[in-house]
Amino acid sequence: MNAKQILLIEDESGIAQMIRVQLQLVGFSVHAVEEAQAALSLPQLSEFDLIILDWMLPDGNGPDLIPQLRQRSNAPILMLTARSEIVDKLIGFESGADDYLTKPFDMMELIARIKALLRRSGSAVQRAKIPALRFRELVLEPDTRRVTIAGDEVELTPTEFKILEIFLQAPGSVFSRDKLIELVMGYEYEGYGRTLDSHIARLRGKIELDIKSPEYIKTVFGVGYKLGD
Ligand code: CA
Repeated sequence: MNAKQILLIEDESGIAQMIRVQLQLVGFSVHAVEEAQAALSLPQLSEFDLIILDWMLPDGNGPDLIPQLRQRSNAPILMLTARSEIVDKLIGFESGADDYLTKPFDMMELIARIKALLRRSGSAVQRAKIPALRFRELVLEPDTRRVTIAGDEVELTPTEFKILEIFLQAPGSVFSRDKLIELVMGYEYEGYGRTLDSHIARLRGKIELDIKSPEYIKTVFGVGYKLGD
């Protein structure tokens, strides 16, 4: 099996070197760049399995870079930040990052997060022969990771895909925010309901005709969300 390809965007050379060596030791292939523009100009940008993105870069900041990365990559994005304020973490998630770590972090923690994100984004081989999940015009094929609505393909991030997969496995069931976060992240994120809300808002933007009156992902006020009525 080929090594997972990780793109590391980090300008602090000491940290970048440490991450690169440690990730290579556990079998990942790492391509490191120090600036946002260097990452965006990579011809193979769409081929990485995961992107590690530093918050503060010489030519911009991580959250602003995410929409540009997303135009060419649906790989999970793990944000590194030197800031520890909760508001920054929320901004990190709202910008579309799939996970974050605050510096200084333990290298084993980084590797565990990377593995969890890669499991979440899955691979065609691991997910082969799982039947498609359907609800009204929405079809999700776990094996190919393809999502269509009325036959039109929808591009989702790994986090959005996971959320949709959870809903499609139990249409009509109400999920609390805490339960959804636990199911999506694989661990508890107490108090991060707003980050989930922002992922759901982006997901609705992609699958709903009218996001003010969603047909698929309904808000259950004071509780959470459910798929359909
Ligand atoms: Ca930096």
